[in-house]
Amino acid sequence: MKNENQKSSMENLYGIRDKRNHYHPYKKVGYPPVFIWPVKPLSALAWIVSIPGYFMPWNLFYMATGLIAWYLFSPQLEDYTYITFNLLIIVYARNSILVMIYYGLFHLRLFLKKTQGITFKFNPRWPDMKSKIFLFGNQTYDNIFLTFISGVSIWTLFEVFILSLAANGYLNLVSPTVQPIYFGAMIFLIHLWRDFHFYVIHRLIHWLPLYKIAHYVHHKNTNPGPWSGLAMHPVEHLMYFSCALLFILLPFHPAFVVLTLVHAGLSPAPGHAGFERLVASKGKVGFDLDSYAHYLHHKYFECNYADGILPLDRWFGTFNDGSKTSHKKMQERFRKKRFIKRPETKNTYSKPFIK
Ligand SMILES: [Zn+2]
Ligand SMILES: [Zn+2]
Repeated sequence: MKNENQKSSMENLYGIRDKRNHYHPYKKVGYPPVFIWPVKPLSALAWIVSIPGYFMPWNLFYMATGLIAWYLFSPQLEDYTYITFNLLIIVYARNSILVMIYYGLFHLRLFLKKTQGITFKFNPRWPDMKSKIFLFGNQTYDNIFLTFISGVSIWTLFEVFILSLAANGYLNLVSPTVQPIYFGAMIFLIHLWRDFHFYVIHRLIHWLPLYKIAHYVHHKNTNPGPWSGLAMHPVEHLMYFSCALLFILLPFHPAFVVLTLVHAGLSPAPGHAGFERLVASKGKVGFDLDSYAHYLHHKYFECNYADGILPLDRWFGTFNDGSKTSHKKMQERFRKKRFIKRPETKNTYSKPFIK
């Protein structure tokens, strides 16, 4: 009990619960001081190296995991010359293990052991164990099934396809020793490319016909958990992992492909955790999960299509920073739209979804 009180008083320092017991952080969704006018070069540089910042903690982790996955846990490039069943199984197994560990740890800590209860959890409810809208009538089983059967398979196919083109000499390869600056710059920029690509495909998949075919599957998760991150329709997985196709156009190193796909494959876990922050083991506040912007997207559908550094939603008028002012603006946009989609009614379109 003492522990519970400690945790909720910790939460009170960072946010507030409304009448329905939903948690709202005081900290608004924001963007780093990079894509702003007038430019602030010193603040931008400081942000690149600060914690949290461009690299730390999340981006550095995905970069390191991607590089380790290529250099230590991948077949040699020559082995991609012929696409064999063995090759597909090896790459699929490696990707599955990464997903199992990463998503599994978030789920174990936050949803199975419930180590911090609902402290910092946006929605006080736990995922639906009995709901007709999910496969097997269970949100977590549905999410895990879609992640491994469709998500990791399509991720694997993209990797094997692009690297097999490279192994057969159809694409231009670079070497970290011959072109070190290009190699370093590309590793540095992959995160930004992913942000941009995600925004574009996300806007596209909210186009009504595509939403009805595919994206409604992901949006069933109005109260997401880590496994909701990759719970998508196969059509959406195809679009989502197509970020790796950039390297068909540019000279690349195989590590770029693996890193880009690892970034796409793993980063949705914290972004869908449903918690603002982790509570560290000694009752101290741990990492900010950077999940509020995308949580608001799952809650309201038509805001925060981007999820990262590029202020694309601000530029295109769909930004919701979680404040009352932002909320009012969003409701105004909704009023202007006659109809808006709701996840549980994939084929019907009801009146604007306004809280
Ligand atoms: Zn999502
Ligand atoms: Zn969406």
